[in-house]
Amino acid sequence: MNDWLPVLLALSAGIALGLLIAQRRWLSRNDQSSALADSEQLSGNLGNRYFRGINYLLNEQPDKALEVFLQLAEVTPETVETHLSLGNLFRRRGEMDNAIRCHQNIIKQTELSAEERNHALLELAEDYLRAGLLDRAEELFSTLAAQEISTQTALQRLLNIFQQEHEWQSAIRVAQQLQRVTGESYQEMIAHFYCELASEQHQSGRRDDVLEMLDQAEQADPQCARLWIQRAQLATEKGDADAAIGYYTKACAIDQDCLSLVLDALISAYRQAGRLAEAETFLADWLGHYTDTSAVIAAGELAREQQSAGNARTLLLNELKRMPTVGKMRALLQLTTDDDEHDFPLLDVFGQLSNSLREYENGYQCRVCGLEGHTHHWHCPSCRSWNTTLPVRGILGE
Ligand SMILES: [Zn+2]
Repeated sequence: MNDWLPVLLALSAGIALGLLIAQRRWLSRNDQSSALADSEQLSGNLGNRYFRGINYLLNEQPDKALEVFLQLAEVTPETVETHLSLGNLFRRRGEMDNAIRCHQNIIKQTELSAEERNHALLELAEDYLRAGLLDRAEELFSTLAAQEISTQTALQRLLNIFQQEHEWQSAIRVAQQLQRVTGESYQEMIAHFYCELASEQHQSGRRDDVLEMLDQAEQADPQCARLWIQRAQLATEKGDADAAIGYYTKACAIDQDCLSLVLDALISAYRQAGRLAEAETFLADWLGHYTDTSAVIAAGELAREQQSAGNARTLLLNELKRMPTVGKMRALLQLTTDDDEHDFPLLDVFGQLSNSLREYENGYQCRVCGLEGHTHHWHCPSCRSWNTTLPVRGILGE
């Protein structure tokens, strides 16, 4: 009730004013003596409906009150703001049919200024968007943008729509327009759009087009780590392990958080290229700067394979002391319990305990909206931000 009150009061005041104006117009258009009785009958009927609306309002039946007021209140330059507020109130309450009806009703009026009509068009487009009528919203926002009406808002909404619909070429076009309008850079986002296109071409088996899209992504933003990961995956498929190593390490140099994403593939590429010793050097350098759990575990596995189980245990223990995490402890316990010679039943219990903690470990978290999960997303499914899903750090993470 509270949110209706200001709008309904404004509407009822508009109606009262409308009744007065209607009566004066009636009298001025007709013979005073003969029209007086008719005008009184007309205003009497309208007045009855007006008071019925007020009664609904007082009885806390705003939906019925609104129905009556909408029938009574003409959209005029004097009442258009109130009608716009009413439509927006419907939208905020999620009553989209009413919001759309209200804003369409405003647009139909011929007495309004271009500015008032454009405002109503923008609100109607927002209604369509909120109602999930994306085709209609797209059409209306495109018209507004083409006529340079609320251009920035219209383009921003179009950008959101095209991302929702995975229309990446259209999203690139609109992002470029937004850059011109706002003077802000959308290059990082555009690079991701090209990476999305590259993924689509990859699924369709069009390798040349994948490379073309990745070139475009690089042109938009060479610091987009994702494009280098996609180049590495392509090189791996082609059997070019050396190139894959170069691309993967470039991605990690650009963005530290990429390591856990690519580590298995990177070690595999080193192995395929016959350069496993370099993998150990790479991880040793990495751990000289960072403490990532995934890097420690991979370094431990390589040390066990290339050197000895004792060296691997020493490495894991030192890293565990430097920055304790459940993942590192699990790797150390696994390595120790794998050794047939150990005689500490308690280690098995700790091993089971650390395994049971897996379900509490969240792999990734969006730094914008906080969404957690075990899957990495380049495009957050919750807040729709790009490249904001990062590995969780701390005792239960990296
Ligand atoms: Zn998010």
